[in-house]
Formats: sequence, structure tokens, C-alpha cells
Amino acid sequence: MPSEPNSRRTWTPTALPWIREDRVADMKKTTRVNHPPGVELPAGNHPLVAPIYQSVKFEFDTLEDTEQFLRGGRPGFFYSRGSNPTTRQLELLLAELQGREDCLVTASGVGAVAQTLLSLTKHGDHVLCFVETYNPTRYLIRRLLGRFGVTHTMLSIEDTTGIERALAARPARLVFFESPTNPVTKIADVAEITRLARAAGTLSVMDNTFAGFHQHGAFDVDVFVHSLTKYASGTGDVMGGAVIARAELIRSMRTDFGALGGTLDPHAAFLILRGLKTYFVRYQAQSATAALVARQLAAHAAVARVHYPGLASHPRHELAARQMQDFGSIVTFDLKGGAEASRRFAAALRLFALAASLGSTESLAITARMMGGHELNAEQQRASGITEGTIRLSIGLEDAEDLAQDIAQALEATGT
Ligand SMILES: *Cc1c(COP(=O)(O)O)cnc(C)c1O
Repeated sequence: MPSEPNSRRTWTPTALPWIREDRVADMKKTTRVNHPPGVELPAGNHPLVAPIYQSVKFEFDTLEDTEQFLRGGRPGFFYSRGSNPTTRQLELLLAELQGREDCLVTASGVGAVAQTLLSLTKHGDHVLCFVETYNPTRYLIRRLLGRFGVTHTMLSIEDTTGIERALAARPARLVFFESPTNPVTKIADVAEITRLARAAGTLSVMDNTFAGFHQHGAFDVDVFVHSLTKYASGTGDVMGGAVIARAELIRSMRTDFGALGGTLDPHAAFLILRGLKTYFVRYQAQSATAALVARQLAAHAAVARVHYPGLASHPRHELAARQMQDFGSIVTFDLKGGAEASRRFAAALRLFALAASLGSTESLAITARMMGGHELNAEQQRASGITEGTIRLSIGLEDAEDLAQDIAQALEATGT
């Protein structure tokens, strides 16, 4: 019979294969709900987005296979605190983006910092950190590690000769630094700090959250830590952290990380993997708008000073331009009118939410009062660069003109 050219083929759904049908026999329904039918994709058939392996436990087909896995004799997954296919996919992607061999992901950025510090130090070690270091990290180094007999020296990130002197005076296990720093975007001389650390046999640990995974990878940094809560997810709806380093260092930390237990959940890993798909376009678009905002602020009479590494007026702009391709979405500025002007500015904002964090699609603002750092002495406060009139903006993905208008009217409201 000749086939009709336009006839619709009737589609018969093919039976999807059930996994382990042997378990079905004679199951009561109370049992069946705990052993639901499994669905396995036929060979040669793949989803475009990897599924979330939302399972704590994994089993092997036989007891022999299980024992072989536990002896380290075969690959696989067993318990998600140790490893999970979804979190592993995120780890492999982040290692590649940052240009290192391996990665461990954690439940938050601070989790990554804390577990890295605990894993890399022991009683009697010495650590170098900076007054511009992220507040909770400073707490971890000074207070928590201090309780376990780890001492520290705290310098200012721009004091490169101070770093050299400190490393010469006393062997240090690690130097922990950031660039650009929070909130006044000071720039660390990454080549110089890592050179000095290498020469002294000190590990360099860089919190690269502000610069992102695509920057600083070419420098001789031993360990990168990141908050995935910021640019990685990009949408401010999930928390995570990562430590990225050469394989040998990650191997040395893996057991400690598993025992400390701050593992990232597979569902959060999936959301972060989804966020990373738009990471580059977001980072670049947010950086472009941030540059416009920085220029707008620099031209306004109410503004004493703008801190943005992309501005030619930034004290280390040339160094920043050598180290970075994109200058990021954080623009910080000091209002001439001090605390009162800063209150008026913040209260007048309509589009910017008065909230912590950064790297989200929505724009955010915080005042000096919201920034912490209260435990620093007067000299350290000065070195940190924060004044009473300091405002930190995190630029989102809104229309650049809408943001400029909101900033203009809020500056107007300062009355200067
Ligand atoms: C936010 C942040 C962290 C901590 O990350 P969480 O995910 O909030 O725990 C660490 N370092 C820097 C530089 C950050 O901005």
C-alpha cells in the first residue's frame, strides 16, 4: 500500500525500562512507596541539563563492588557529604574556570574560608592577614584560629614592604588576602605578594570573590576561595562556597572538609551551575554599568571620593588594569556630608535595596554603619578606608539610566 505523504505516524510510547524489577514482586504498597519504580535513560539518550542527584546515598550492584569501592579500588559515589555527582560537576567546572586542577564546594563562602583555614593550619603556625580583609574572615583568623594557638600579623594590603618585612621576621604558614578589597576596592599587588610568599615558603590564599573565577588565575596563587553566593549564582537565592587549588593541596584538605561537614547540598549546586551559565554576561554587563555609575558619582559636588578600580583616579588603577580585565560591580564612594548625608542618601534610594551581599541581579546599597569592622582600633579603622560618609553600591542588571536617575535623586536628597 502506498504511504500517504501527510499521514501522521501514530506514536507509541515505548516502555521506559524499570530498574531492579526484582524488588517489585509481592510488594505491599507501604513498601512500594519506599521503593518507587526507577527510570533509567536508554543508552544514547541524554538530558541537555544534568539532573540533580538529590540523593544522600548511592549503592553498588553487589556487596563485592561496595567493598571494592570502600577500599579505593573502583570509582563511584557512596555518601553525599563526601561527594555527589551534582556537586562534583560544579567543582570540576569551577576548577576549570579558575585555572586550577581541583575544587571542593561548601555550604557558604564563609564555610569555605573557615574549613580552608582550619585544614591548612595547626597549633604554633603564623598567618598574615589584612585590615581590609572580609570581617568574618578576620574573626576566623584572629579569634577562632587564635583559640587553637595560631598567631597572626595584620597589615594593610597596600603595605607590600610590610609584607616582605613580616615574612622575613617570622615564618608564616599562609598569607590570606583579597583584591579588590571590601568595601573600598583597594588593589593587592598579586604578582608581588605571591612572589614574596613563594620565596618564603608561605602558602598564598586569595579570596577571589570580588574579582570572580575568570580573573587572577594566571598568578602564582596557591589557593583560591570564593563565595558562590555572589557572582556564581547571581540571583541572590542560594548560598555556597568553593576552594580551588592544585590537586595535591585539595587532596590534603578533602578528609578535613568531609569531617568538618559543611558540604554543599546538590540542589544548591544545581542552582549555582544554572547561575554560572550567565556568569560572564552578567559580570561584564554589571561592570559596564558600574563604570558609568562611578563616573557619575565622581562628577557630583556632594561626593568627596569614588573608589572604583576602573577609574583613572583610583590610586592603583594601572595595577588593576594590568591584573584584571573587568573591574567588577562594586562602586564605593564617600559623601562630603558624612554620616548625615549618608543616611539621607540611603533613605532616598528607590531602586537600590539596603541589603548586604553583592553580585546579584538587583542593585544593593549599604552604609558605613552596616559594614561592621567595629573591633578595629582607630588606626586600623583609618587604614581600612571606611569613613562615616562611605556608601557601597553593588550594581545589578537594571537599566543603567534608571539606576543613574535613582542615584541622582538620592544625591539631591543629601542637600549638599
Ligand atoms: C560574601 C563574602 C564571603 C562569604 O560568603 P558567604 O557565601 O556569604 O558565606 C567571603 N568573602 C568575600 C570577599 C565575600 O564578599
